[in-house]
Amino acid sequence: MIIVSACLLGINCKYNGKNNRNPFVLELGKKVPLIPVCPEQLGGLPTPRVGAEIIGGAGKEVLGKTAQVVNQQGEEVTSFFLKGAAETLRLAEITGSNTAILKSHSPSCGSGFIYSGDFDGKLKEGEGVTAALLKEKGLLVLNENIFSDNQKGKDLKR
Ligand code: SF4
Repeated sequence: MIIVSACLLGINCKYNGKNNRNPFVLELGKKVPLIPVCPEQLGGLPTPRVGAEIIGGAGKEVLGKTAQVVNQQGEEVTSFFLKGAAETLRLAEITGSNTAILKSHSPSCGSGFIYSGDFDGKLKEGEGVTAALLKEKGLLVLNENIFSDNQKGKDLKR
């Protein structure tokens, strides 16, 4: 079982009510059972919702209570992100999933790089809150670019 960001499967759970449908992840779903999750919805946020980013650090620091998640209207929404991360971890434990493929750059799901916290479209190093928690608990956390990069590699060999 693999935990996967629901938006990558085409579920309209993004902050703007849209999705991040990814053909490689959909293809994977034909071979391996996927558990779709949207940590922000699991945390109790509505869809659509005001976009949010992490300020003062990244997901690891949010878990350590030294950084916060704030939405574009200046409201702190950290507790929703922490709840979503905890619920996602619970789903991983219930289903025995040890791998997660999560949407890049998201303040919840991002791994490697996430949005800067300045709502300027720039990136900074670090994980989103859910990705950080899953990593901390020993899951392998990947993002959808792994598949695209693999596919690009195959294309180059042709
Ligand atoms: Fe997708 Fe994760 Fe954002 Fe939900 S929280 S919309 S699953 S990136």
